[in-house]
Amino acid sequence: MTAAEVIDGKAFAARLRAKVADQVAQLALEGLQPGLAVVLVGHNPASEIYVRNKARQTLEVGMRSFEHRLDAETRQDDLLALVERLNRDPAVHGILVQLPLPAQIDAAAVINAIDPAKDVDGFHVINAGRLATGQDALVPCTPLGCLMLLQDRLGDLSGLRAVVLGRSNIVGKPMAQLLLGANCTVTVAHSRTRDLPAVCREADILIAAVGRARMVAADWVKPGATVIDVGINRLEPETPGGKGKLVGDVDFEAVKEAAGAITPVPGGVGPMTIACLLANTLTAACRATGRTAPR
Ligand code: NDP
Repeated sequence: MTAAEVIDGKAFAARLRAKVADQVAQLALEGLQPGLAVVLVGHNPASEIYVRNKARQTLEVGMRSFEHRLDAETRQDDLLALVERLNRDPAVHGILVQLPLPAQIDAAAVINAIDPAKDVDGFHVINAGRLATGQDALVPCTPLGCLMLLQDRLGDLSGLRAVVLGRSNIVGKPMAQLLLGANCTVTVAHSRTRDLPAVCREADILIAAVGRARMVAADWVKPGATVIDVGINRLEPETPGGKGKLVGDVDFEAVKEAAGAITPVPGGVGPMTIACLLANTLTAACRATGRTAPR
């Protein structure tokens, strides 16, 4: 058995960002500059890094970036008032409230207060409902990125058996909806699934989105399957004071001997998430101004 093709998400994401930048340049000629507002509440270190990267890449593709940093004690009403202001601001085409939010804030209430047309994370119930019913939706960025990588490698996904490991609202469920929309036969597995290895072995496409370091072993994977690893897990540092290694939910070294193709961590799904956020912001800006969104 030859080792799997390693899917280069970093290169794919760079191409997608370049395409978005071209389209943003076209819109500039028509006097439109898409704008993305990112709201960060508190000082979660991982969120700080994500927000910084999002702002940098937003500017790099020629969009406007609006950053709103609120302190950890912010009241829900104040956050809702900011969301309302951004909903009304015509320079803002996309709004992203970075999760997780502090405990005093009901995240669902805040997400559902965002204008669905500006909900570039695709987490609003209206967008979730549109996706589930096959209508035009803003689609959550991470699963959208996974679908792009799959279609790039496999072309038409019709009839393939897909297993999605994880059923969160932000990854697992929308991933399953997208695969169903692409005519896969989809199984969603989770912590109560019986005989997980046997369920996973049925998959032509296996998506791992559980948040458990290296959980998916080589004998869970059907020979030749395409494995997409969404997980981001930091291992304990090997030396005191050092930084732990980042690994996915898949045992990469072992599974790459069984799979047909596999995404690495880092450098697989991760870079696709921000690239899809920019693509969603472009889509939102086009729709808001009566233009057809680019494909
Ligand atoms: P959640 O914790 O919200 O969901 C995890 C899911 O995995 C749940 O459905 C849970 O089942 C299931 N699960 C947990 N343990 C097991 C187990 N032992 N066996 C089977 N199923 C299990 O995580 P997210 O969906 O938010 O994220 C998943 C991973 O993806 C994380 O590592 C996260 O860091 C990463 N991620 C990466 C992104 C990227 O840009 N690459 C973006 C978003 C997330 P149950 O519902 O039964 O509890």
